[in-house]
Amino acid sequence: MPIPSRLRAHRRLLVACLLAALAAATTGCQRDAAPAASAEGAAPPAAQGSYARQHAGDYATVPLKADLSAFDENGKRMIALLVQASEVMNDLYWQQSWDGDRAALLARAPDAATRDLVALNFGPWDRLNADTPLLPGIGPRPAGSTFYPADMTKAEFEAANLPDKTSWYTLLRRDDAGKLVTVPYHVAYKADLERAAALLREAAAASADKSFANYLSMRADALLSDDFQPSDLAWMDMKSNPVDIVIGPIETYEDQLFGYKAAYEGVVLVKDQAWSAKLARFAAFLPELQRGLPVADKYKAETPGSDADLNAYAAVYYGGNANVGAKTIAINLPNDEQVQLRKGTRRLQLENVMQAKFDAIMVPIARQLIAQDQVANVTFDAFFQNTMFHEVAHGLGIKNTLDGKGTVSEALKDYASSFEEGKADVLGLYMVDALANKGELDKSKLLDNYVTFLAGILRSVRFGATDAHAKANMLRFNFFAERGAFARDPRSGRYRVDFDKMHVAMNALGEKLLTVQGDGDYAQARQLTDTLGVIGPELAGDLKKLDGAGIPVDIRFEQGLETLGLSQYAAPPAARE
Ligand SMILES: [Zn+2]
Repeated sequence: MPIPSRLRAHRRLLVACLLAALAAATTGCQRDAAPAASAEGAAPPAAQGSYARQHAGDYATVPLKADLSAFDENGKRMIALLVQASEVMNDLYWQQSWDGDRAALLARAPDAATRDLVALNFGPWDRLNADTPLLPGIGPRPAGSTFYPADMTKAEFEAANLPDKTSWYTLLRRDDAGKLVTVPYHVAYKADLERAAALLREAAAASADKSFANYLSMRADALLSDDFQPSDLAWMDMKSNPVDIVIGPIETYEDQLFGYKAAYEGVVLVKDQAWSAKLARFAAFLPELQRGLPVADKYKAETPGSDADLNAYAAVYYGGNANVGAKTIAINLPNDEQVQLRKGTRRLQLENVMQAKFDAIMVPIARQLIAQDQVANVTFDAFFQNTMFHEVAHGLGIKNTLDGKGTVSEALKDYASSFEEGKADVLGLYMVDALANKGELDKSKLLDNYVTFLAGILRSVRFGATDAHAKANMLRFNFFAERGAFARDPRSGRYRVDFDKMHVAMNALGEKLLTVQGDGDYAQARQLTDTLGVIGPELAGDLKKLDGAGIPVDIRFEQGLETLGLSQYAAPPAARE
């Protein structure tokens, strides 16, 4: 059932928070964030094929793999079936993203590079670059994609008396008389959905975990009825499954007209049992860490939330909408508000994809901007810790203002999410610091966390600081700079962390943000953002070095049964039709 757009906007902030750490391009807490439109913007390619060649370096190619040695024959066969079900989501998503014949469109590409880029984008627009058309004669991407008739106006939609018109799972079409009608997804896409459902049922039969088998069967039913709530509830109830899959029409970002219509995707995941156990262990320290926050007692009187369902996974397949444009490194689902109220949400951190982006994007940036003797302190382990503890740190601090007038979020209005994300970043680091000092994490590696934290800020402002979240990153950068947490070498333009001063600055910023939140001080939030949330000329000059360094914007995957070493489990063609 549809939820009001205000609520959806809120859940997007939740989905997005983690992405701020490694979104492909801008710092915005937006999934699929893309760099600001460049001068070529939405203009068609100047010379055929040249655009694709110019942008060949936008993506680093990485294989999507995981260690599957712990799985027996049945387990491997099950994973192979899930991958094949997710491959069906590619076909479904193509139908949603391009209103025409896929093969005919690909045949229009003037060269292999362009054809490749069109295939990668599930259509003729460059998702990483403001939807620039990739083929001659292609206009701007329709805001409503294929979900609505191309000639439908917003007013016509709003006037239509169709009770399920705002459903996530219906298409708007015209009947023979030209009147708007709705067509449910399970009717419009029946053949492909039956194929996917059959594969999910086969996977259910191969699953050793009963709760997962139950979820897969329910999900198969849901694909054929568009009633996803029972399977979403079952998904939240299962806890022991070593493999997971997110499949179906999930996110509504593709519908830029109204944000109602969900796009098909399929993501297959293998749980990292060791990290999941560690996280459960750290959750027990939350009350103590809350008491230890560097702020006056009245700002830390609330009980921290510790019921977070947070786990680490290796992603082994991205299908459909999940595999277009910037790749997500974290998932927060389900989106159904009613399920959220009853069961909460699950946060899935995609460790191998984070690592791929870390290697392809973060390390090259650090090599340009971090002091040479500290480049080695930019490590994936530290990055992963900072990211995981950012998530946990959302549970620390204060949710309601001290004046008793309501929530922090209501008081800080348009600054609420940037202050909440900024808080989670700095308190995440505080948690790493506190746990290291308790011997729960390796204290000798703490400098790694600090330097990686700084490199993360530099990465996130790579494309500027125009939106609220980028401003929050700059606020942190400038606050730290004022306190000498790092110093810039004027000759090299490189930044070097001062461990002790950074520790002090971290606590001071934590105190500042918690105080603004607890006081619900909107004026102060705005003033801090206006004065500190800007990129100064010196940093702007340093960031320019990144332009010529050939650093990718995002990653693309080499993936599938062959990459996973599971080709022998491919279903015979008869079973797939
Ligand atoms: Zn967050």
